[in-house]
Parts: sequence; structure tokens; C-alpha cells
Amino acid sequence: MANVLLIEDEVSIRAALHRALDERGHAVASVRAAMDGLARATKERPDLVVLDLGLPDMDGVEMLRMLRAVSSVPVIVATAREQESEIVRVLDAGADDYLVKPFSGAQLDARIRAVLRRGGREDEESACVVGGLRVDPRSREVELDGERLELAPREFELLHYLAVRVGTVVSKRELLTEVWQIPYGGADKTVDVHLAWLRRKLNETAANPRYLHVVRGVGVKVTAPES
Ligand code: CA
Repeated sequence: MANVLLIEDEVSIRAALHRALDERGHAVASVRAAMDGLARATKERPDLVVLDLGLPDMDGVEMLRMLRAVSSVPVIVATAREQESEIVRVLDAGADDYLVKPFSGAQLDARIRAVLRRGGREDEESACVVGGLRVDPRSREVELDGERLELAPREFELLHYLAVRVGTVVSKRELLTEVWQIPYGGADKTVDVHLAWLRRKLNETAANPRYLHVVRGVGVKVTAPES
């Protein structure tokens, strides 16, 4: 997947994230201090950096500014602070994305993949396979158990967005922003209607889901059927 440099001083968090990313197929190097991270990031040229803000030798945002002077490597900031001013400061300093602690390895992995896709560093064009479902972004073709499905463009984009994040619950808000390009407002109903259409084409129902699973009040995810 990706070469990830993890800069985090807290031993337990560093170990947990290191393991979680490792399990998801990333090659992870981890360091505990900003200067060390800066040196490694410039020398080893990772695909992506995960940066904690509270580091022993330097504020992570200061380090990010120094890194940005010499490198455009994608950076995801891990912050304990949720205030808007803090998030703005992080993004202004050149972060590509951020996560507010605590977060899971699965969440971090999903953000890593999203950031790398945006940067075109990952092989985003390869087909995505979940169980008997195959979603090919190049040909924009979807197959279910070897049979071609005819999807409308938005249905395809919705399914592809979920399929590349297999197992991750995506909020309807995120879908409206990323799939429909409606950053504010918009109605959950829009997503629900398209999910219903998609369901019909995937030969499943809300009562008997196979690939599309709605987690009430949270969002929707794609997973492979159990049998
Ligand atoms: Ca810290």
C-alpha cells in the first residue's frame, strides 16, 4: 500500500497505530520526535506522514512548516484539539487532512487512502473487488458474480466510494460532500434514494442486505456477504 512515516511520542499510541497500519499492508516507520521525523521525511521520502502535534522537542505545526519548505509529502495531522482555530492552523500550515484523537487504525487507514488517492500516488485506477462485486473505475464497469450491472453515473460513484473504503462506515454527510459535491446542506434523503436504487441493482433489500449495510444514525458501509 504505502510507505508511512509515523511521528508520535506517546509509546502506546505509536505502537497501536504502527500495528494497525502494518496489518493493513502499509510499510510503517515510526519516530517519537519532530526533528528526527523531519530528517527521516526528507531522507527516506515516505508516501505519507502521520504527524502528532504535541511532540517533545517541537510543536507539530512548526515542524510541518519546516517540512513544507522542503517537501510536498502528504501529511495527516493527529490532533487532540477539536477547536476550529486549531484545525485551521493545521491546514494553513500545509496538512492534507487531520484526525481528532482518539481515532482507530481503520479510520487512519481510510484517511491515508483518501489522501493518497487525491494526490494520485496510489494506484487508484485499479479495480476494487469486494466478495463477488468488482468495481472498475477505468471502464466504469461493475460486475456482480460475473454479471455486468448497468449503473447510473451517480450510482457508480457512490458504490465506488464505498467499495474502496470496504468495511468503513461512511456518513451520509461525507457522501453528500464527496460524491455529490454538496459541502453544506443537502438532504440525507438524496443518499437514501440512491442507496435504494443501488440495492435493487445489487439484488438485495434493506431488510436483507448483502453488500450495502446501513448503520442507523451513523452511515453506510460496503462489506462482502458472510457466506
Ligand atoms: Ca503527543
